Amino acid sequence: MSALDLPLLNLVLAACAGLVVGSFLNVLIYRLPVMMERAWAKDCAALSDLPEPQAPTFNLMVPRSRCPHCGHSIRWMENIPILSFLALRGRCASCNGGISWRYPTVEAVTGLLFVYCAGRWGMGTEAAVWTGFGSVLLACALIDWDTTYLPDDLTLSLLWLGLVSSSLGYSAVRLDDALWGAVVGYASLWSIFWAFKLLTGKDGMGYGDFKLFAALGAWFGWTELIPVILVASCSGAIVGLAMKWRSTLRVGGVVPFGPFLALGGFVAMGTASGNPFRLVGL
Ligand SMILES: [Zn+2]
Repeated sequence: MSALDLPLLNLVLAACAGLVVGSFLNVLIYRLPVMMERAWAKDCAALSDLPEPQAPTFNLMVPRSRCPHCGHSIRWMENIPILSFLALRGRCASCNGGISWRYPTVEAVTGLLFVYCAGRWGMGTEAAVWTGFGSVLLACALIDWDTTYLPDDLTLSLLWLGLVSSSLGYSAVRLDDALWGAVVGYASLWSIFWAFKLLTGKDGMGYGDFKLFAALGAWFGWTELIPVILVASCSGAIVGLAMKWRSTLRVGGVVPFGPFLALGGFVAMGTASGNPFRLVGL
C-alpha cells in the first residue's frame, strides 16, 4: 500500500493532522531549549544560594507567539500552517519583517511524514505510533542543529515509546531485539566517546547522542544500528567538510551529530528491518 492508494479524504485528514503537528513542532523546537536554560539557571541559583532568577512565565503554551522583529502578537489567522505564510508572503502583518522559511518547511515535512505513514500503515494506531516517532526525531534533529542540545524529554521519550511500541507489536522488531538495541546503542557510542576522550582529551559528542542512538536501537533492533551509524557518520562527515570548506563552521568547530543520527533513523524507518547491510547495498 502507498499514499496514492489512500482515499482522498484520508489523505487530506493525514496531511492536515501533520500540518497541525508541524506547527506545534515549530513551537517546541524554539521553546524547549529556552525552557531548559531557564531551569538550569534556577538550579544554579539554588545551588549557589543566590535569589531565584525572576522571569515571566515561559512554557509551550505561554506567552503567545510574537514577531521577533516588532513583538506583534500573532493572531490565529496568521498562524494557520503554510497558508498564513503564503497569504502574508513570508512577512509579518505588522512590521513587514521577514518570517523564516523554516516554519512552513517544518510544517510541510511533517505533513508529508503523516501522509507517508498513513499510506504505509493505514489510518490506525500503527501509523499514529510511527508519526510520533518521526515527529520527535525531527524535533531532536532541529533542536540539536540550532543549540547542540538533545533534550532528555525527547530522547528518553523516544526510547520508551520504542520499547512500548515493540511490546505492543507496532514497531518493526521483537521486544528482546528492541531491548538489546537500546543497550547496544547507548553502550557503543558511550565507549567511542570515552576512547576518543582518553586518546585526544576532547569530547567527540554528547550524552544526548548516546540516548538518541539507544532510542533508535529500541525502534529498529541492534543489527539496524550498523546502517544507521554508517548513514549518520557519512552524512555528518560530508556536511562537516562542506561547512569547513565554506567557512561556515560555528565557534569551536562543533558539528552536532544528532541531526545525522536522525537522518539514519529516517532511512531505517523507510526500509523495513531485516538484513543489516541492506542499506549500504551489500
Ligand atoms: Zn513584526
